[in-house]
Amino acid sequence: MTRYGFVIDQRRCIGCHACTVACKSENQVPLGSFRTWVKYIEKGEFPNTRRYFAVERCQHCEKPPCVEICPTWALFKRRDGIVDFDSERCIGCKSCMQACPYDALYIDPASHTAAKCHYCAHRTDRGLLPACVIVCPTRAIIAGDLEDPRSEIAQTLARQPVQVRRPDQGTRPQVFYVGADETAMTPGLAAQPTTYMWAQLGPAGADLEPKGSVWSLAGVTRAPGGAARAVTVYDVPHQKPWGWRVAAYLWTKSVAAGTLLVGVPLAALGLATASLTLAAGLVAMLFTLLTVVLLVWDLKRPDRCWRVVLKPNPRSWLVRGAYILAAYGAVTALVTLTALLGWEPGLRLLVWPAALLAAATAGYSAFLFGQAEGRDFWQSPMLLWHLLAGAVEAGAAALLLVTATIAPGEGLQPLLGAVLLTAILATGALALGEVYSPHGNKDVATAAALLKRGPLARRFQTGFLLAGVGLPTFVLAITLPGGLPAGTAVSAALLALAGLWTYEDLWIRAGQSVPMS
Ligand code: SF4
Repeated sequence: MTRYGFVIDQRRCIGCHACTVACKSENQVPLGSFRTWVKYIEKGEFPNTRRYFAVERCQHCEKPPCVEICPTWALFKRRDGIVDFDSERCIGCKSCMQACPYDALYIDPASHTAAKCHYCAHRTDRGLLPACVIVCPTRAIIAGDLEDPRSEIAQTLARQPVQVRRPDQGTRPQVFYVGADETAMTPGLAAQPTTYMWAQLGPAGADLEPKGSVWSLAGVTRAPGGAARAVTVYDVPHQKPWGWRVAAYLWTKSVAAGTLLVGVPLAALGLATASLTLAAGLVAMLFTLLTVVLLVWDLKRPDRCWRVVLKPNPRSWLVRGAYILAAYGAVTALVTLTALLGWEPGLRLLVWPAALLAAATAGYSAFLFGQAEGRDFWQSPMLLWHLLAGAVEAGAAALLLVTATIAPGEGLQPLLGAVLLTAILATGALALGEVYSPHGNKDVATAAALLKRGPLARRFQTGFLLAGVGLPTFVLAITLPGGLPAGTAVSAALLALAGLWTYEDLWIRAGQSVPMS
Protein backbone atom coordinates (compact mmCIF):
# COMPACT_ATOMS: atom_id res chain seq x y z
CA MET A 1 0.00 0.00 0.00
CA THR A 2 1.23 3.45 -0.86
CA ARG A 3 0.57 6.52 1.30
CA TYR A 4 2.05 9.72 -0.04
CA GLY A 5 2.90 12.62 2.23
CA PHE A 6 5.27 15.54 2.71
CA VAL A 7 7.83 16.44 5.32
CA ILE A 8 8.55 20.18 5.47
CA ASP A 9 11.68 21.07 7.37
CA GLN A 10 11.14 24.66 8.50
CA ARG A 11 14.73 24.86 9.79
CA ARG A 12 15.94 24.66 6.18
CA CYS A 13 13.31 26.93 4.60
CA ILE A 14 14.70 30.34 3.59
CA GLY A 15 11.32 31.82 2.59
CA CYS A 16 12.30 32.26 -1.07
CA HIS A 17 8.81 31.37 -2.45
CA ALA A 18 10.35 29.17 -5.16
CA CYS A 19 7.89 26.39 -4.23
CA THR A 20 4.96 28.80 -4.67
CA VAL A 21 6.21 29.93 -8.08
CA ALA A 22 7.01 26.40 -9.31
CA CYS A 23 3.57 25.20 -8.22
CA LYS A 24 1.88 28.12 -9.98
CA SER A 25 3.81 27.46 -13.15
CA GLU A 26 3.29 23.68 -13.11
CA ASN A 27 -0.43 23.85 -12.33
CA GLN A 28 -1.37 27.14 -14.03
CA VAL A 29 -2.53 28.63 -10.75
CA PRO A 30 -4.06 32.05 -11.48
CA LEU A 31 -2.85 35.38 -10.12
CA GLY A 32 -4.06 35.88 -6.53
CA SER A 33 -4.61 32.14 -5.89
CA PHE A 34 -2.17 29.74 -4.24
CA ARG A 35 -1.84 25.99 -3.87
CA THR A 36 1.20 26.40 -1.65
CA TRP A 37 2.40 29.60 -0.01
CA VAL A 38 4.89 30.77 2.59
CA LYS A 39 3.72 32.73 5.61
CA TYR A 40 6.20 34.90 7.51
CA ILE A 41 5.97 35.45 11.26
CA GLU A 42 8.27 37.85 13.09
CA LYS A 43 8.83 37.40 16.79
CA GLY A 44 10.67 39.31 19.44
CA GLU A 45 11.59 42.88 20.33
CA PHE A 46 14.30 44.75 18.48
CA PRO A 47 17.19 43.87 18.39
CA ASN A 48 16.29 40.33 19.50
CA THR A 49 13.96 39.46 16.67
CA ARG A 50 13.63 36.47 14.42
CA ARG A 51 11.61 35.65 11.32
CA TYR A 52 9.92 32.23 11.03
CA PHE A 53 8.45 30.66 7.91
CA ALA A 54 5.51 28.34 7.42
CA VAL A 55 5.04 26.53 4.11
CA GLU A 56 1.30 25.95 3.81
CA ARG A 57 -0.77 23.72 1.53
CA CYS A 58 -3.33 20.90 1.48
CA GLN A 59 -2.42 18.44 4.23
CA HIS A 60 -3.70 15.41 2.26
CA CYS A 61 -5.56 14.41 5.38
CA GLU A 62 -6.21 10.78 6.18
CA LYS A 63 -9.73 11.84 7.22
CA PRO A 64 -10.38 14.71 4.79
CA PRO A 65 -13.46 16.74 5.78
CA CYS A 66 -13.44 18.38 2.33
CA VAL A 67 -14.19 14.99 0.74
CA GLU A 68 -16.95 14.30 3.26
CA ILE A 69 -18.83 17.54 2.58
CA CYS A 70 -18.28 17.74 -1.19
CA PRO A 71 -21.75 17.05 -2.63
CA THR A 72 -20.63 15.84 -6.06
CA TRP A 73 -17.46 13.77 -5.47
CA ALA A 74 -15.39 16.57 -7.01
CA LEU A 75 -12.94 16.01 -4.15
CA PHE A 76 -11.84 12.45 -3.52
CA LYS A 77 -9.10 10.50 -1.82
CA ARG A 78 -7.01 8.30 -4.08
CA ARG A 79 -5.80 4.86 -3.03
CA ASP A 80 -2.28 6.27 -2.70
CA GLY A 81 -3.44 8.84 -0.11
CA ILE A 82 -3.47 11.90 -2.38
CA VAL A 83 -6.57 14.06 -1.94
CA ASP A 84 -7.32 14.98 -5.54
CA PHE A 85 -10.09 16.93 -7.26
CA ASP A 86 -11.94 16.88 -10.56
CA SER A 87 -12.94 20.40 -11.54
CA GLU A 88 -15.39 19.01 -14.12
CA ARG A 89 -17.55 17.72 -11.26
CA CYS A 90 -17.34 20.84 -9.07
CA ILE A 91 -20.46 23.01 -8.70
CA GLY A 92 -18.64 25.79 -6.82
CA CYS A 93 -20.65 25.48 -3.59
CA LYS A 94 -17.52 26.42 -1.57
CA SER A 95 -18.45 24.04 1.23
CA CYS A 96 -15.02 22.36 0.96
CA MET A 97 -13.45 25.73 1.80
CA GLN A 98 -15.47 25.77 5.03
CA ALA A 99 -14.70 22.14 5.84
CA CYS A 100 -10.93 22.34 5.34
CA PRO A 101 -9.33 23.63 8.56
CA TYR A 102 -6.17 24.66 6.67
CA ASP A 103 -7.41 27.21 4.11
CA ALA A 104 -6.10 24.89 1.41
CA LEU A 105 -8.79 25.50 -1.20
CA TYR A 106 -9.57 28.44 -3.41
CA ILE A 107 -12.03 29.15 -6.19
CA ASP A 108 -10.29 29.35 -9.54
CA PRO A 109 -11.41 32.65 -11.05
CA ALA A 110 -11.29 31.20 -14.57
CA SER A 111 -13.20 27.94 -14.12
CA HIS A 112 -15.21 29.05 -11.03
CA THR A 113 -14.44 25.71 -9.44
CA ALA A 114 -12.50 24.72 -6.31
CA ALA A 115 -8.82 23.84 -6.58
CA LYS A 116 -5.89 23.06 -4.28
CA CYS A 117 -2.57 21.21 -4.07
CA HIS A 118 -3.05 17.74 -5.52
CA TYR A 119 0.48 16.55 -4.88
CA CYS A 120 1.20 17.15 -8.57
CA ALA A 121 -0.73 13.92 -9.19
CA HIS A 122 -0.04 14.14 -12.93
CA ARG A 123 3.71 14.05 -12.18
CA THR A 124 3.46 11.48 -9.38
CA ASP A 125 1.64 9.08 -11.73
CA ARG A 126 4.66 9.26 -14.04
CA GLY A 127 7.14 8.60 -11.24
CA LEU A 128 8.16 12.27 -10.91
CA LEU A 129 8.30 14.36 -7.74
CA PRO A 130 5.96 17.32 -7.15
CA ALA A 131 7.24 20.59 -8.66
CA CYS A 132 7.77 22.26 -5.27
CA VAL A 133 10.12 19.45 -4.18
CA ILE A 134 12.22 19.69 -7.33
CA VAL A 135 12.65 23.46 -7.13
CA CYS A 136 13.35 23.92 -3.39
CA PRO A 137 17.00 25.07 -3.19
CA THR A 138 17.52 23.86 0.39
CA ARG A 139 15.67 20.52 0.19
CA ALA A 140 13.26 21.72 2.81
CA ILE A 141 10.39 19.74 1.21
CA ILE A 142 10.57 15.96 1.11
CA ALA A 143 7.87 13.95 -0.69
CA GLY A 144 7.43 10.21 -0.82
CA ASP A 145 5.70 7.05 0.33
CA LEU A 146 5.22 7.06 4.09
CA GLU A 147 4.62 3.31 4.06
CA ASP A 148 7.99 2.49 2.44
CA PRO A 149 10.59 2.17 5.23
CA ARG A 150 13.41 2.72 2.70
CA SER A 151 12.02 6.06 1.53
CA GLU A 152 13.72 9.28 2.61
CA ILE A 153 10.45 10.59 4.01
CA ALA A 154 9.85 7.51 6.19
CA GLN A 155 13.43 7.61 7.47
CA THR A 156 13.21 11.35 8.19
CA LEU A 157 10.02 10.75 10.16
CA ALA A 158 11.60 7.88 12.08
CA ARG A 159 14.62 9.99 13.02
CA GLN A 160 13.12 13.04 14.65
CA PRO A 161 10.05 14.50 16.27
CA VAL A 162 7.61 16.15 13.89
CA GLN A 163 4.57 18.38 14.21
CA VAL A 164 1.28 18.48 12.35
CA ARG A 165 -0.96 21.46 11.90
CA ARG A 166 -4.09 21.71 14.05
CA PRO A 167 -4.09 18.12 15.36
CA ASP A 168 -7.21 18.98 17.41
CA GLN A 169 -9.21 18.93 14.17
CA GLY A 170 -8.86 15.16 13.94
CA THR A 171 -8.10 15.16 10.20
CA ARG A 172 -4.82 13.22 10.57
CA PRO A 173 -2.71 15.41 8.23
CA GLN A 174 -0.11 13.70 6.07
CA VAL A 175 2.11 16.79 5.92
CA PHE A 176 4.63 16.72 8.74
CA TYR A 177 6.67 19.70 9.89
CA VAL A 178 10.12 19.76 11.45
CA GLY A 179 11.30 22.69 13.56
CA ALA A 180 8.27 24.89 12.92
CA ASP A 181 7.59 27.64 15.43
CA GLU A 182 4.32 27.34 17.31
CA THR A 183 3.16 30.75 16.05
CA ALA A 184 3.68 29.66 12.47
CA MET A 185 1.78 26.41 13.01
CA THR A 186 -1.22 27.65 14.97
CA PRO A 187 -3.36 30.33 13.36
CA GLY A 188 -4.34 33.20 15.60
CA LEU A 189 -1.30 33.04 17.87
CA ALA A 190 0.44 35.80 15.92
CA ALA A 191 -1.10 39.26 15.78
CA GLN A 192 -2.56 40.38 12.45
CA PRO A 193 -1.32 43.81 11.38
CA THR A 194 -3.40 46.00 9.11
CA THR A 195 -0.79 45.80 6.34
CA TYR A 196 1.87 43.29 5.38
CA MET A 197 5.46 43.88 4.33
CA TRP A 198 5.68 44.67 0.60
CA ALA A 199 1.92 45.19 0.50
CA GLN A 200 -0.60 47.85 1.34
CA LEU A 201 -3.19 45.09 1.56
CA GLY A 202 -3.84 43.61 4.99
CA PRO A 203 -5.42 40.28 5.86
CA ALA A 204 -8.48 39.37 3.77
CA GLY A 205 -11.62 40.68 5.38
CA ALA A 206 -9.96 43.70 6.88
CA ASP A 207 -13.49 45.04 7.26
CA LEU A 208 -13.77 42.85 10.31
CA GLU A 209 -10.53 43.94 11.89
CA PRO A 210 -11.00 46.38 14.75
CA LYS A 211 -8.42 49.01 15.56
CA GLY A 212 -5.48 47.21 17.06
CA SER A 213 -5.98 43.49 16.69
CA VAL A 214 -9.04 41.41 17.35
CA TRP A 215 -6.81 38.37 17.61
CA SER A 216 -5.24 39.91 20.65
CA LEU A 217 -8.56 39.10 22.31
CA ALA A 218 -7.48 35.48 22.12
CA GLY A 219 -4.04 36.32 23.48
CA VAL A 220 -0.92 37.20 21.52
CA THR A 221 1.94 34.79 21.95
CA ARG A 222 4.81 35.80 24.13
CA ALA A 223 8.17 34.20 23.74
CA PRO A 224 9.23 32.03 26.67
CA GLY A 225 10.89 34.19 29.27
CA GLY A 226 10.40 37.37 27.27
CA ALA A 227 7.79 39.92 26.38
CA ALA A 228 8.07 39.36 22.65
CA ARG A 229 5.12 39.71 20.37
CA ALA A 230 4.61 37.53 17.31
CA VAL A 231 3.29 39.30 14.23
CA THR A 232 2.31 37.91 10.84
CA VAL A 233 4.24 40.06 8.40
CA TYR A 234 3.45 38.24 5.16
CA ASP A 235 0.60 35.97 4.12
CA VAL A 236 -1.65 35.49 1.12
CA PRO A 237 -5.30 36.57 1.05
CA HIS A 238 -7.89 34.03 2.11
CA GLN A 239 -11.42 34.21 0.86
CA LYS A 240 -14.53 34.23 3.03
CA PRO A 241 -16.54 31.85 0.91
CA TRP A 242 -20.09 32.45 2.15
CA GLY A 243 -21.81 35.83 2.21
CA TRP A 244 -25.28 37.30 2.53
CA ARG A 245 -26.90 34.70 0.28
CA VAL A 246 -26.12 31.93 2.76
CA ALA A 247 -27.44 34.04 5.64
CA ALA A 248 -30.55 34.80 3.56
CA TYR A 249 -30.94 31.08 2.78
CA LEU A 250 -31.00 30.31 6.52
CA TRP A 251 -33.60 33.04 7.02
CA THR A 252 -35.93 32.08 4.14
CA LYS A 253 -35.63 28.43 5.20
CA SER A 254 -36.71 29.36 8.73
CA VAL A 255 -39.80 31.11 7.34
CA ALA A 256 -40.54 28.21 4.96
CA ALA A 257 -40.20 25.52 7.64
CA GLY A 258 -41.74 27.49 10.50
CA THR A 259 -44.93 28.42 8.67
CA LEU A 260 -46.02 24.79 8.44
CA LEU A 261 -44.38 23.79 11.73
CA VAL A 262 -46.71 26.25 13.44
CA GLY A 263 -49.57 26.42 10.93
CA VAL A 264 -50.39 22.77 10.24
CA PRO A 265 -50.92 21.68 13.87
CA LEU A 266 -53.16 24.72 14.36
CA ALA A 267 -55.20 23.69 11.30
CA ALA A 268 -55.40 20.07 12.47
CA LEU A 269 -56.69 21.22 15.88
CA GLY A 270 -59.35 23.27 14.10
CA LEU A 271 -57.88 26.54 15.38
CA ALA A 272 -56.95 28.04 12.01
CA THR A 273 -59.43 29.01 9.33
CA ALA A 274 -59.22 27.40 5.87
CA SER A 275 -57.98 30.66 4.37
CA LEU A 276 -55.17 30.93 6.95
CA THR A 277 -54.12 27.32 6.29
CA LEU A 278 -54.09 28.04 2.57
CA ALA A 279 -52.00 31.16 3.15
CA ALA A 280 -49.59 29.15 5.35
CA GLY A 281 -49.15 26.58 2.56
CA LEU A 282 -48.55 29.31 -0.01
CA VAL A 283 -46.01 31.15 2.20
CA ALA A 284 -44.17 27.89 2.94
CA MET A 285 -44.10 26.98 -0.77
CA LEU A 286 -42.89 30.45 -1.82
CA PHE A 287 -40.12 30.59 0.79
CA THR A 288 -38.99 27.02 0.01
CA LEU A 289 -38.66 28.12 -3.60
CA LEU A 290 -36.75 31.24 -2.54
CA THR A 291 -34.44 29.07 -0.43
CA VAL A 292 -33.62 26.89 -3.42
CA VAL A 293 -33.08 29.97 -5.62
CA LEU A 294 -30.62 31.41 -3.08
CA LEU A 295 -28.77 28.10 -2.83
CA VAL A 296 -28.38 27.80 -6.59
CA TRP A 297 -27.54 31.50 -6.93
CA ASP A 298 -24.69 31.10 -4.46
CA LEU A 299 -23.09 28.35 -6.57
CA LYS A 300 -20.11 29.42 -8.66
CA ARG A 301 -21.29 26.93 -11.29
CA PRO A 302 -25.10 27.04 -11.09
CA ASP A 303 -25.23 25.36 -14.52
CA ARG A 304 -24.07 22.17 -12.80
CA CYS A 305 -26.57 22.21 -9.90
CA TRP A 306 -28.22 19.07 -11.26
CA ARG A 307 -25.16 17.11 -10.12
CA VAL A 308 -26.31 17.43 -6.50
CA VAL A 309 -29.32 15.28 -7.34
CA LEU A 310 -27.99 13.04 -10.10
CA LYS A 311 -24.32 12.46 -9.07
CA PRO A 312 -24.62 12.86 -5.30
CA ASN A 313 -22.25 12.09 -2.46
CA PRO A 314 -24.84 10.72 -0.01
CA ARG A 315 -22.61 11.48 2.99
CA SER A 316 -22.74 15.22 2.26
CA TRP A 317 -25.38 17.17 4.16
CA LEU A 318 -25.63 19.46 1.14
CA VAL A 319 -27.06 16.48 -0.75
CA ARG A 320 -29.22 15.32 2.15
CA GLY A 321 -30.48 18.87 2.56
CA ALA A 322 -31.37 19.08 -1.14
CA TYR A 323 -33.49 15.92 -0.84
CA ILE A 324 -35.14 17.20 2.35
CA LEU A 325 -35.95 20.52 0.66
CA ALA A 326 -37.40 18.71 -2.37
CA ALA A 327 -39.61 16.51 -0.16
CA TYR A 328 -40.67 19.51 1.91
CA GLY A 329 -41.48 21.47 -1.26
CA ALA A 330 -43.78 18.62 -2.32
CA VAL A 331 -45.51 18.61 1.10
CA THR A 332 -46.06 22.39 0.98
CA ALA A 333 -47.75 21.91 -2.41
CA LEU A 334 -49.94 19.12 -1.00
CA VAL A 335 -50.94 21.21 2.04
CA THR A 336 -51.80 24.14 -0.24
CA LEU A 337 -53.86 21.93 -2.55
CA THR A 338 -55.67 20.23 0.34
CA ALA A 339 -56.47 23.59 1.93
CA LEU A 340 -57.66 24.91 -1.43
CA LEU A 341 -60.01 21.96 -1.79
CA GLY A 342 -61.12 22.33 1.84
CA TRP A 343 -60.43 18.58 2.37
CA GLU A 344 -60.06 18.32 6.14
CA PRO A 345 -59.30 14.56 6.42
CA GLY A 346 -56.46 15.09 3.92
CA LEU A 347 -55.10 17.91 6.03
CA ARG A 348 -55.17 15.70 9.13
CA LEU A 349 -53.24 13.03 7.19
CA LEU A 350 -50.61 15.59 6.27
CA VAL A 351 -49.99 16.87 9.80
CA TRP A 352 -47.22 14.45 10.74
CA PRO A 353 -45.37 14.36 7.39
CA ALA A 354 -45.57 18.17 7.21
CA ALA A 355 -44.39 18.68 10.81
CA LEU A 356 -41.52 16.17 10.49
CA LEU A 357 -40.32 17.50 7.15
CA ALA A 358 -40.63 21.08 8.40
CA ALA A 359 -38.45 20.19 11.40
CA ALA A 360 -35.96 18.40 9.12
CA THR A 361 -35.91 21.41 6.77
CA ALA A 362 -35.22 23.78 9.64
CA GLY A 363 -32.68 21.55 11.37
CA TYR A 364 -30.59 19.84 8.69
CA SER A 365 -28.32 22.88 8.38
CA ALA A 366 -26.98 22.09 11.87
CA PHE A 367 -25.45 18.92 10.41
CA LEU A 368 -24.29 20.76 7.28
CA PHE A 369 -22.52 23.41 9.35
CA GLY A 370 -21.22 20.57 11.53
CA GLN A 371 -19.49 19.20 8.43
CA ALA A 372 -17.92 22.63 7.87
CA GLU A 373 -15.22 21.49 10.28
CA GLY A 374 -12.84 24.35 9.63
CA ARG A 375 -15.21 26.76 11.37
CA ASP A 376 -15.20 25.91 15.05
CA PHE A 377 -17.77 28.58 15.90
CA TRP A 378 -20.33 26.70 13.81
CA GLN A 379 -19.81 23.45 15.72
CA SER A 380 -22.06 24.50 18.60
CA PRO A 381 -24.17 21.65 20.05
CA MET A 382 -26.93 24.25 20.48
CA LEU A 383 -27.19 24.94 16.76
CA LEU A 384 -29.92 22.38 16.03
CA TRP A 385 -32.12 23.81 18.80
CA HIS A 386 -31.36 27.33 17.66
CA LEU A 387 -32.47 26.54 14.12
CA LEU A 388 -35.67 24.85 15.33
CA ALA A 389 -36.51 27.74 17.66
CA GLY A 390 -35.70 30.20 14.86
CA ALA A 391 -38.08 28.37 12.53
CA VAL A 392 -40.91 28.51 15.08
CA GLU A 393 -40.19 32.22 15.59
CA ALA A 394 -40.16 32.92 11.86
CA GLY A 395 -43.26 30.79 11.27
CA ALA A 396 -45.27 32.45 14.04
CA ALA A 397 -44.14 35.90 12.83
CA ALA A 398 -45.06 35.11 9.21
CA LEU A 399 -48.49 33.82 10.26
CA LEU A 400 -49.08 36.91 12.39
CA LEU A 401 -48.33 39.05 9.34
CA VAL A 402 -50.78 36.95 7.32
CA THR A 403 -53.46 37.43 9.98
CA ALA A 404 -53.23 41.17 9.37
CA THR A 405 -54.97 40.60 6.04
CA ILE A 406 -56.90 37.34 6.57
CA ALA A 407 -59.52 36.52 9.22
CA PRO A 408 -57.44 34.39 11.59
CA GLY A 409 -60.08 32.54 13.60
CA GLU A 410 -61.25 32.95 17.18
CA GLY A 411 -58.39 33.68 19.61
CA LEU A 412 -55.72 32.70 17.12
CA GLN A 413 -53.80 35.96 17.05
CA PRO A 414 -53.01 35.97 20.80
CA LEU A 415 -52.09 32.28 20.53
CA LEU A 416 -49.66 33.04 17.69
CA GLY A 417 -48.37 35.98 19.73
CA ALA A 418 -47.68 33.65 22.67
CA VAL A 419 -45.88 31.18 20.39
CA LEU A 420 -43.83 34.04 18.93
CA LEU A 421 -42.94 35.37 22.38
CA THR A 422 -41.80 31.92 23.55
CA ALA A 423 -39.72 31.39 20.41
CA ILE A 424 -38.12 34.86 20.64
CA LEU A 425 -37.10 34.15 24.23
CA ALA A 426 -35.73 30.74 23.20
CA THR A 427 -33.66 32.07 20.26
CA GLY A 428 -32.43 34.99 22.38
CA ALA A 429 -31.37 32.65 25.21
CA LEU A 430 -29.70 30.22 22.79
CA ALA A 431 -27.82 33.06 21.04
CA LEU A 432 -26.67 34.44 24.39
CA GLY A 433 -25.60 30.94 25.38
CA GLU A 434 -23.58 30.53 22.16
CA VAL A 435 -21.87 33.87 22.55
CA TYR A 436 -21.41 34.23 26.32
CA SER A 437 -21.03 30.66 27.65
CA PRO A 438 -17.50 29.26 28.19
CA HIS A 439 -15.96 28.39 24.84
CA GLY A 440 -14.51 25.09 23.72
CA ASN A 441 -11.36 26.60 22.23
CA LYS A 442 -9.74 29.91 21.40
CA ASP A 443 -11.17 30.04 17.84
CA VAL A 444 -14.72 29.88 19.19
CA ALA A 445 -13.78 32.46 21.83
CA THR A 446 -12.36 34.76 19.13
CA ALA A 447 -15.50 34.50 16.97
CA ALA A 448 -17.70 35.14 20.02
CA ALA A 449 -15.47 38.09 20.99
CA LEU A 450 -16.19 39.66 17.60
CA LEU A 451 -19.86 39.67 18.56
CA LYS A 452 -19.36 40.68 22.17
CA ARG A 453 -16.88 43.51 21.81
CA GLY A 454 -15.43 43.37 18.30
CA PRO A 455 -16.57 45.08 15.12
CA LEU A 456 -19.80 43.07 14.98
CA ALA A 457 -20.83 43.98 18.53
CA ARG A 458 -22.92 47.02 17.68
CA ARG A 459 -25.14 45.12 15.24
CA PHE A 460 -25.37 42.19 17.64
CA GLN A 461 -26.40 44.34 20.55
CA THR A 462 -28.70 46.83 18.85
CA GLY A 463 -29.89 44.93 15.76
CA PHE A 464 -30.39 41.56 17.40
CA LEU A 465 -30.53 41.77 21.18
CA LEU A 466 -32.36 45.10 21.44
CA ALA A 467 -34.46 45.36 18.27
CA GLY A 468 -34.88 41.64 17.52
CA VAL A 469 -35.33 40.23 21.04
CA GLY A 470 -35.86 42.97 23.65
CA LEU A 471 -38.38 45.18 21.86
CA PRO A 472 -40.72 42.47 20.51
CA THR A 473 -40.57 40.69 23.89
CA PHE A 474 -41.56 43.89 25.66
CA VAL A 475 -44.34 44.71 23.18
CA LEU A 476 -45.79 41.20 23.27
CA ALA A 477 -45.50 40.85 27.04
CA ILE A 478 -47.46 44.01 27.76
CA THR A 479 -50.14 43.59 25.05
CA LEU A 480 -50.80 39.84 25.09
CA PRO A 481 -52.92 39.84 28.25
CA GLY A 482 -55.23 42.37 26.56
CA GLY A 483 -55.65 40.31 23.36
CA LEU A 484 -52.80 41.58 21.11
CA PRO A 485 -53.99 44.40 18.80
CA ALA A 486 -53.33 43.80 15.08
CA GLY A 487 -50.90 46.72 14.73
CA THR A 488 -48.81 45.48 17.66
CA ALA A 489 -48.78 41.96 16.26
CA VAL A 490 -47.42 43.25 12.93
CA SER A 491 -44.72 45.35 14.63
CA ALA A 492 -43.61 42.48 16.85
CA ALA A 493 -43.54 40.08 13.89
CA LEU A 494 -41.48 42.44 11.73
CA LEU A 495 -39.01 43.12 14.55
CA ALA A 496 -38.61 39.40 15.23
CA LEU A 497 -37.99 38.63 11.55
CA ALA A 498 -35.47 41.47 11.24
CA GLY A 499 -33.71 40.32 14.42
CA LEU A 500 -33.52 36.77 13.13
CA TRP A 501 -31.98 37.95 9.85
CA THR A 502 -29.45 40.07 11.73
CA TYR A 503 -28.33 37.15 13.85
CA GLU A 504 -28.04 34.73 10.87
CA ASP A 505 -25.90 37.30 9.02
CA LEU A 506 -23.65 38.01 12.02
CA TRP A 507 -23.28 34.33 12.81
CA ILE A 508 -22.12 33.56 9.26
CA ARG A 509 -19.65 36.48 9.35
CA ALA A 510 -18.23 35.75 12.80
CA GLY A 511 -17.64 32.09 11.99
CA GLN A 512 -15.58 32.96 8.93
CA SER A 513 -13.56 35.73 10.55
CA VAL A 514 -11.19 33.52 12.49
CA PRO A 515 -8.00 32.68 10.57
CA MET A 516 -7.48 29.01 9.71
CA SER A 517 -3.90 29.19 8.47
FE1 SF4 B 1 -6.49 19.08 1.99
FE2 SF4 B 1 -8.03 20.64 3.48
FE3 SF4 B 1 -9.07 18.47 2.29
FE4 SF4 B 1 -7.39 18.17 4.39
S1 SF4 B 1 -9.42 19.09 4.41
S2 SF4 B 1 -7.38 17.04 2.44
S3 SF4 B 1 -6.01 19.94 4.01
S4 SF4 B 1 -8.23 20.30 1.27
